[in-house]
Amino acid sequence: MVFALSVCAFISHHSRKAIGRSVAALLIALIPPVTGNLIIIGSNYQNLSTVGYYTYFFGMNLVMYALLKFTFVYCNINWPDKISQNAVRLLLVFDAIQLSLNPLLGHAFATEELIVDGSIYYRLIPYAGQSIHRIIDYSIFLIVLLIFTVKTSKTSKIYAERYSVILLVMLFTGVWETYYIFSGRPIDTSMIGFGAFGLLVFYFSLYYRPLRLLDRMLANIASEMKEALFFFDSNKTCIWANSPGLDLVHINEEDFEIASSRLKEMFKSFNNDEDQFNANEIIDSGSEKKYYVLSKQLVNDDDGYPVGSFLSVRDNTAEQLELQKEIFNATHDRLTGLYNREKFFEMSENILHNNPDKEYLAVFADINDFKLVNDVYGNEFGDLVLKKVADLFSTLCPENSIYGRLGGDTFGILYPADQFRIEDLENHLSRFSIVQDELELQIILHIGVYEIVDRSIPTSAMFDRAHMAISTIKEDYHHLIQYYNDDFRSDVIWNKQISSDLHDALRNRDIVPYLQPIMDVEGKIAGAEVLVRWNHPIEGFLSPGKFIPVFEKNGMIADVDRYMWRCACEILRKWKQKNRNEFISINISPNDFNQLDVVKELKELIREYDISASQLRIEITETVMMSDIDKRMSTLSELSSMGFIIEMDDFGSGYSSFNLLKDMEVDVLKIDMVFLRKTGDVEKAKKIVKNIISMANDLNIVPLTEGVETQRQFEVLLDMGCKLFQGFYFAKPMPEAEFEEFHNTHGR
Ligand code: C2E
Ligand code: CA
Ligand code: CA
Repeated sequence: MVFALSVCAFISHHSRKAIGRSVAALLIALIPPVTGNLIIIGSNYQNLSTVGYYTYFFGMNLVMYALLKFTFVYCNINWPDKISQNAVRLLLVFDAIQLSLNPLLGHAFATEELIVDGSIYYRLIPYAGQSIHRIIDYSIFLIVLLIFTVKTSKTSKIYAERYSVILLVMLFTGVWETYYIFSGRPIDTSMIGFGAFGLLVFYFSLYYRPLRLLDRMLANIASEMKEALFFFDSNKTCIWANSPGLDLVHINEEDFEIASSRLKEMFKSFNNDEDQFNANEIIDSGSEKKYYVLSKQLVNDDDGYPVGSFLSVRDNTAEQLELQKEIFNATHDRLTGLYNREKFFEMSENILHNNPDKEYLAVFADINDFKLVNDVYGNEFGDLVLKKVADLFSTLCPENSIYGRLGGDTFGILYPADQFRIEDLENHLSRFSIVQDELELQIILHIGVYEIVDRSIPTSAMFDRAHMAISTIKEDYHHLIQYYNDDFRSDVIWNKQISSDLHDALRNRDIVPYLQPIMDVEGKIAGAEVLVRWNHPIEGFLSPGKFIPVFEKNGMIADVDRYMWRCACEILRKWKQKNRNEFISINISPNDFNQLDVVKELKELIREYDISASQLRIEITETVMMSDIDKRMSTLSELSSMGFIIEMDDFGSGYSSFNLLKDMEVDVLKIDMVFLRKTGDVEKAKKIVKNIISMANDLNIVPLTEGVETQRQFEVLLDMGCKLFQGFYFAKPMPEAEFEEFHNTHGR
């Protein structure tokens, strides 16, 4: 036993576990009492047996100290404090001292010779000192027992065996020892218990692993896991599955065995019968798709022999759907579900790259006046329009085309050239309207087409070119599809150039007013229309037809017009100073109403130049009334009430001219001969002019014909009842100085 204790003590001492040293100390401490006992039993001399008793007593004190220390470490309790630790030490040292005084005082014990089984034996006769020793040791022992008892009862059942086993052995050894003390039996065999106790402590402290505890914990973890788990024995029979596993294969707890066949039905990867694998599988039940991640692993014992395997199946449908949603959102437009700009360009690029010999068209679609649709009918209706346009493309576009939303109200289509049927498309577009409740709105889609001949430019530039094509038909409601040609590009560049030149031109007075006289029935000057001209330093002399439409589109027209109005007022002031009372007509373009407070501008101008409102005539065309009709109507009647004379320009060139006449206060009707001549049928045109003139006279509106080019025309119009005339027959538009000369010969 001494040998066993020594070996175990050595091992404990070198163990990496924290408790190793306490265990080693306890095992070493057990050696003296065991040795002492050996001496007592083996000695034939009284003195030697007394030495044995001392070894035993002192040893027991060591054991109690080491046991107490071990108990605290093993039970994970801190020593209460240094004082109590020292008190225990002091008590044990005191006991050793008082025992040591026994040869002098004879107060602790004596020995008495006995013959046991024919050999000499020295039995202990205890006195008071010995009782002190026992009280001290038993007290410590009881404290230890108490600690273990509390620990056993206070810890979880599975874990308590760690304490209860030691407690039982201690109790057993204690009872055994006590029995010896009180029975008066000569030979103390309880030392066997001591040894056994030491070895048990050694085992439990260093090697014992609470397997039951581990099992329970692992089982708990496995049951609690969200993923389905299946455990198989070495014959690949399912021996356990957690409840998600049972749910997955729809079985009850008792039929683990059929799990394997169910799994084989469900998952392809499980069919291969591989021992280990990782796989992703999709189960498509038609109504929904489920995504699973499978992982099967072998379990080997310590020697490497397979003991079974387990399979985990994780349903990651939610994650997959989330991921797919994210990808979709990143590449699609939320409202229409079409590809977004980036994705569309990326896909187009791929298609063009992968089909180098196939011809494609870059088709750009733009909803006309979409802003207006939004303003007038609300954003919700605007959204509906966008969705319907998207729907239109999905029905119109062939399978091997792709389309996407490029921006607010613009769309792109990459169209295989051989499948593009322009008539079909035109047909669809001309009949494209949106119905909601009682509202039916015709939506005008303008389509620009770029035949992709140059594949070296970026995809976005291809669609930019298609877009450019649209800009040439923007205001046209009949011409819906336009092919791109390289002129457009230079047009766009030119437009940009003159737009950026405008402000310098205004400052440098490169923009000048020309006056075209307006004559009365006697062929004398009644007034003039002021028309803009641009002496461009590089482009040369520019007529308004070149730049007015550009500025109409980008809103810069307001700067031109405001300048021209001021010029007109300047001229009028000079005329006033010469006591001349001819009028000047100015042009107001539709966009001026968006950019300016027209009433305020004009009011300030006539005040500043001190001229009468009736001298300044205002020419508007019916396109002014195409949007915001109520507001513009009231602006015009305000101007009218201020004394301005309102002229309806280009009357007859549009469609709503007559309609407007009945609601609007118009003073002069300007009938455009040039426009009417374009109709071809001269007789018919004549009749129309004649009727317009007589209608105007009936309505007390002054008829004015512009574009009069011959004396004959003048005479005929005069005959028809026309009151005012303008045209090359009298004079072309001219600079102010020239007009003054003209006035000298043709003025009143
Ligand atoms: P408009 O207001 O209808 O002006 C009349 C146009 O007809 C002028 O062209 C004039 O030169 C031309 N014209 C006059 N008599 C005859 C004729 O007997 N035969 C022919 N074939 N043409 C004649 P212009 O000056 O080139 O102006 C073209 C258009 O540009 C104008 O049409 C007007 O819409 C616009 N415009 C001109 N100046 C301004 C301006 O200052 N502001 C705005 N907003 N538009 C302007
Ligand atoms: Ca005009
Ligand atoms: Ca006109």
